[in-house]
Amino acid sequence: MTIYQNLIAGEWTGADAVENINPSDTKEVVGLYASGSAADTRNAIAAAKAAFPAWSHSGIWERHVILKKAGDEIMARKDELGALLAREEGKTLPEAIGETIRASQIFEFFAGEALRLAGEVVPSVRPNIGVEITREPLGVIGIITPWNFPIAIPAWKIAPALCYGNTIVFKPAELVPGCSWAIVDILNRAGLPKGVLNLVMGKGSIVGQTMLDSPDLAGITFTGSVGTGKRVAVSSIEHNRKIQLEMGGKNPMVILDDADLSVAVEAAANSAFFSTGQRCTASSRLIVTEGIHDRFVAAMTEKLKTLNVDHALKTGTHIGPVVDERQLKTDTDYIEIGKNEGAKLAFGGELIARDTPGFYLQPTLFTEATNQMRISREEIFGPVASVIRVKDYEEALAVANDTPFGLSSGIATTSLKHATHFKRNAEAGMVMVNLPTAGVDFHVPFGGRKGSSYGSREQGKYAAEFFTTVKTAYTLA
Ligand code: ADP
Repeated sequence: MTIYQNLIAGEWTGADAVENINPSDTKEVVGLYASGSAADTRNAIAAAKAAFPAWSHSGIWERHVILKKAGDEIMARKDELGALLAREEGKTLPEAIGETIRASQIFEFFAGEALRLAGEVVPSVRPNIGVEITREPLGVIGIITPWNFPIAIPAWKIAPALCYGNTIVFKPAELVPGCSWAIVDILNRAGLPKGVLNLVMGKGSIVGQTMLDSPDLAGITFTGSVGTGKRVAVSSIEHNRKIQLEMGGKNPMVILDDADLSVAVEAAANSAFFSTGQRCTASSRLIVTEGIHDRFVAAMTEKLKTLNVDHALKTGTHIGPVVDERQLKTDTDYIEIGKNEGAKLAFGGELIARDTPGFYLQPTLFTEATNQMRISREEIFGPVASVIRVKDYEEALAVANDTPFGLSSGIATTSLKHATHFKRNAEAGMVMVNLPTAGVDFHVPFGGRKGSSYGSREQGKYAAEFFTTVKTAYTLA
């Protein structure tokens, strides 16, 4: 089998490799991918540093053309890349193709943004002096990504980094190197100069840690667990480095008595169980007022019976497998914790056998949960959700906000008054009304509050805040 290698200083390199396994069929090896060393990582950082002066002064048309080419190729290959994504991560083929299209759109968006770079000219408070405010590239950016969106998250970090003139050391998650390799190959062939984008696949404890320890990274943009995010933060203070962290969530979905029941059930089922519940914007706390509670639980249970859990590539699959054995153990451990805490298992909770050996888990719904239980406070990151019964809107809002996290927050209601109040008072970066908590646009800001996020927003034109540094220049006329 050929080894998909790392790209360092424009050269494909690396002989040590690990298998990329399909979670829908653990007999299938998706490919062999290089596993980089600390020395590889240091070489990649040195290459990105050497490439920065030229790339940071490159023309906006050059950046536009490369980003546009990449977006076009990803779109032209959406079915093939979508299938690769579904095979390495386990989300269903339609979800995987959707994510691939989104990656393409992100490159198209930042291809446009490259042409829209602008500053401000303002008068000085002193006579005969002009003031210009411009954005300059930050420097070498470290990009560290998780396994749950193998193409979209790399795209939404790489595209703005390049658009604004930065160079990159990119370390994808060990479980899903395939899509990352494909994007880097596409950008490399699209004409990026050597060293501008370096790919170092491998272990977090080796490649990631070497990035954290380097004084040469001007910024790190990270998506992953709270624990690793904290390490990124602590190491970055020492190096006076800018950071952008997207970490956990425990997103609430409030369902009020006046909700349209079918809208509420569709939104809640999508939020909790699509993409196998493995989205940082997934909802695992369904906070339901007492007048609709029993009807909602009955309708959710009926809905869950219709969802097929199976091989990600099979037509008709609604929910793919859990990503790997370790995550499956986390999910089943939390199911036991929920039972022991006194929540009632209303649906699911069991592993399922399918034609191929994979990590198949039934969508699992608890009822009679309280917001103090561990299943309501800690991020599970699997197809497991709990219903928390509350008296009224005021209690629902208080429970929704009673969490260490604050990424996304949803409400199902037909009341304009409650929807308006919730939009203003939900302590989250994103609020969804009569929509799933997950599923966001590519051209507007993404990010959260409290323990979920740190630093400025990702995506859309707000991405400029992280990937640039502001300069204020004064000129005597
Ligand atoms: P998860 O538990 O979801 O895998 P992690 O935070 O462990 O979340 O992983 C997110 C990314 O962070 C992955 O690319 C992983 O390899 C990387 N990572 C893990 N440990 C470290 C570390 N010590 N330093 C830098 N990156 C790390």
